[in-house]
Amino acid sequence: MTRRVSRRTVLKAAAGALLAGPLAALARQTRAAYPRATAEQPNILLVTIDALRADHLSSYGYRQRTSPNIDQLAREGVQFLNAVSTAPWTFPAFSAIHTSMYPTELGISTHNALLPQIYGQRLDPARETLAERLAAQGYRTQAFVTNPWLFPEFGFSQGFQGYTVVDRQRAYDYDAILQATLAGRLAGQAPPAEAALRQLYEALMGPAGQPVWDVRGDRVMDSALNWLEGHRSERFFLWIHCIDPHYPFAPPASYRPAVPGVNAERLEYLASYNEEDIYTGRARLRPADHKALVGLYDGEIRFVDEQVGRLLRQLDDWGLRETTFLALTADHGDEFWDHGGYQHGHTLYNELLHIPLILRGPGLPARQVADVVRHVDLAPTLTAVAGSPFHADAHGLSLLDLLRAPGEPRLAFSEALFLTSEKKAIRSGSQKLIYDRFGGGSELYHLDADPGEHADLSEQAPDQVFALKRQLETWMAANDEKYAALPRTAVTGGDSALIEALRAGGY
Ligand SMILES: [Zn+2]
Repeated sequence: MTRRVSRRTVLKAAAGALLAGPLAALARQTRAAYPRATAEQPNILLVTIDALRADHLSSYGYRQRTSPNIDQLAREGVQFLNAVSTAPWTFPAFSAIHTSMYPTELGISTHNALLPQIYGQRLDPARETLAERLAAQGYRTQAFVTNPWLFPEFGFSQGFQGYTVVDRQRAYDYDAILQATLAGRLAGQAPPAEAALRQLYEALMGPAGQPVWDVRGDRVMDSALNWLEGHRSERFFLWIHCIDPHYPFAPPASYRPAVPGVNAERLEYLASYNEEDIYTGRARLRPADHKALVGLYDGEIRFVDEQVGRLLRQLDDWGLRETTFLALTADHGDEFWDHGGYQHGHTLYNELLHIPLILRGPGLPARQVADVVRHVDLAPTLTAVAGSPFHADAHGLSLLDLLRAPGEPRLAFSEALFLTSEKKAIRSGSQKLIYDRFGGGSELYHLDADPGEHADLSEQAPDQVFALKRQLETWMAANDEKYAALPRTAVTGGDSALIEALRAGGY
């Protein structure tokens, strides 16, 4: 696909140049409106790391030393040992993080979850987001993100006064895809499904297979620290998202592993974007290759951990530590054939659902917490830090309450929505049930004795299956009801003419 500069892009640039002076003046005026953070109403800093499974961090028991800086943060703050992701891939997981709601009730279904771009799927604008609430509480809101699913088109920018996609020029031109597909349709040249899909694939992959999923964490942190330097005297909510541990696993050279039997050329091949080869078996991976891939993933973690270290040191240097509440977590994990699969998205095992979660803030004593906590708890926690409850439909509960008094154990619900498969999971303490909604089967695991989920106990413990499934069914029924009641526009959104065109094209 050739990359063209769209008319809209040119217009935006021209408008930007004309408005630069007045906007800068306005920005200066606006800046004065934000007071300095205090220990009572601190800055809020959310750091998320894509595809970071908890058990590959030293502080979560990994034998390799992958994460000295995150480990330090864990020692200084509250480390949640059993934090559970809502969904095994980016878009639904972040939907839960930002709204404290579940993917299905937000309109994400098996039918449209795979290709939100094509369906114009986005976060329902009617839902209040974390950033909106914090902006209303008098916070300057800013994000630095990477990962195409977090592009503003999908709604995550809602409530952010500034939303920067780092190195977006390396990523795809969303406008160009929409316009080209739509223009073809309007000109009577219905895009055949295959061509549209190829276009989408190339758009996500970049031309000539250039990956767009590996914008490096140092680039993200450079941008975020640069912004922070100019705004550190204003009370801020800053979200920083790094994508390094997400495939392709291509850390800088000095972070790559030395694996016997894997030469430099082979390592380079594994580090490059060859997902399809691996999926289809063309790559013919040997045990040493598996080891090398895991080593590359760990190298990405070490690299992103250094970026976290830069951030922590900078907060100290600028004297922000005592007035900044920091939350670090991941959207989901990643699988390396733990249950036969690779990457993420399809299953609900712990390599995908067990995520790190660390909070560090003024007045928060350092400790470890073993209670089950969830993505949906994050936004209510951060709004509580800002002195506000979150919206009434939020499912999460502030973790500050949990730290004050244990309260009722929290049930963690997760869902994997992927074309022809729909799986749901419930975690209650160390018991976990995974239910295959289409296939009908259930798996039961006792995670204290079997954290790797290899011994399915569903036949031995039918009473436990029954009890967990009943709770799961209540939750599913509530979600289904909300999904059915969603206005059609809220489910699809986006460009309705394009959606109609694609529907007509057989999607
Ligand atoms: Zn992700």
